Amino acid sequence: MKIALLSPFIHPIVEPFVGGTEAFLARFATALTHRGIEVVCYACEGSVIPGVEIRTCGVPPSALAYPRAPHELKGDEILTIRAYEDAVLYQAIEDIRRDSSLDLLHNHSFSAIPLFVSHLLPLPVIHTLHLPPMLPNMTEALRFCKQQDILLHLVAISQSQAQLWRDHYPISRVIYNGLDMEALPPDCAHEGTLAFVGRIDPSKGVEDAIEVALQLGKRLDIYGAIQPSATTYFETQIAPLLARHHTLIYHGAVSQPTLFQALRKAQALLCPVKWDEPFGNVIIEAMAVGTPVIMYDRGSAHELITEGISGFIVPADDLHAMRSAVEQGVQFDRALCALHARERFHINACVDGYLSLLQTLSGARF
Ligand code: UDP
Repeated sequence: MKIALLSPFIHPIVEPFVGGTEAFLARFATALTHRGIEVVCYACEGSVIPGVEIRTCGVPPSALAYPRAPHELKGDEILTIRAYEDAVLYQAIEDIRRDSSLDLLHNHSFSAIPLFVSHLLPLPVIHTLHLPPMLPNMTEALRFCKQQDILLHLVAISQSQAQLWRDHYPISRVIYNGLDMEALPPDCAHEGTLAFVGRIDPSKGVEDAIEVALQLGKRLDIYGAIQPSATTYFETQIAPLLARHHTLIYHGAVSQPTLFQALRKAQALLCPVKWDEPFGNVIIEAMAVGTPVIMYDRGSAHELITEGISGFIVPADDLHAMRSAVEQGVQFDRALCALHARERFHINACVDGYLSLLQTLSGARF
C-alpha cells in the first residue's frame, strides 16, 4: 500500500511547525509508516518527515504564503500567488497521475485544483478539509462539483467544521486529528503560569490571552510563529505589550518536545480564538500532558473539551469569564485530563478512521 499526501505547500513540514496542518501531516505520515504503509508527501522545500519521501515540485518555503494581510495586498499580488499555487498543484497532480505505484491520494491542500480534478484520476482520492469555508477558490470548486454531480469524498476534522461545509458539499465523514500519546507522559505538578500556543494571527486572539494574564498578574508564555500575513498586527498590537510587561514572554516558534515540556508546566492553556476553530491541535496537545484548556465557545470547543475534566468553555470574547475560569481551575485533576485526551484523540483512532474510509472506497484490506 502506497499513499500520496498532498500538503498545502505553504510552510515546510518540519519542526518548528507553523500551523496545525503541517504538525498533523508529520504525525499522520509517521503513523501510517508504522502501519507498514509507504508514504510520499508533496510539500514545499525544507520539509522532512523521517521514513517518508518528500516531493517538492521545486516550491521554496513561504512562496505561496501571503506576505502581508490580504487587505494590504494589491489584487494582482493575490492573483499571482493563486496562479502559482494552481500551477504547483497541477504539477503535483500530474506527477501523481503518472505514478502507477500509488494506491491513494489524500489531499490536505487549501487549493481548488485537487477538488476540480480528483474525479479524473485513476486512483481513489480523499480530501481532508483543514479550514473553515473561508477561501472562495475552495467553495467555488465545491459549488461546481456539486452542480456537475462530481463525486468527492470529503473529510471534516470536527462536527462543527462539517456543519459549516455541508452547505457547500456533503461531508463523507468526520475524523478527528490525533496525537501519539505514548511520547507524552503527563505531569501532575504545574508552576501556576499560563500559556498561549498558536500562530500569531488575529484569528487566534493572543491579545485576549495577554489581557487575562495581565488582569490576573500571572506570567504568560507565548509560543508560535508570526504568520507572514500578520506582521503589521504583531508589530502594532502585540509587540508594544510584550515590551511593556516583563510577565509576558514570547518564545517564538519552538519544536514540539520543547513545547510539550513547557505546556506541562502551565496551569492552563488559554485559547481565546476569534474564528471558528476547525479542530485546534494545541487543545489536544495541552490536554494530553494534563494541562486544562480554557477556550472561547467557538468552533470545535464542545467536541474537544469536556467541561470540568479537560478544561472550561466560556462565552466568546468574554474576558471576565475566561479570567474566572482560570481562578476556578486551580484544583484541576491533571491525570484525569490527560487520560481523557488519550482515550479520545489517539493518532491510532485517526489512522483507523482514514483506513476504514479507504477500505470502503477501494475494497482494499489493511
Ligand atoms: N506549534 C509548534 N510550535 C510552536 C507553536 C505551535 O510546533 O511554537 C504547533 C502546535 O504544537 C500545533 C500546531 O502548531 O500542533 C498548531 O495547530 P492548531 O491546529 O492548534 O492551529 P492552526 O495553526 O492549524 O490553526
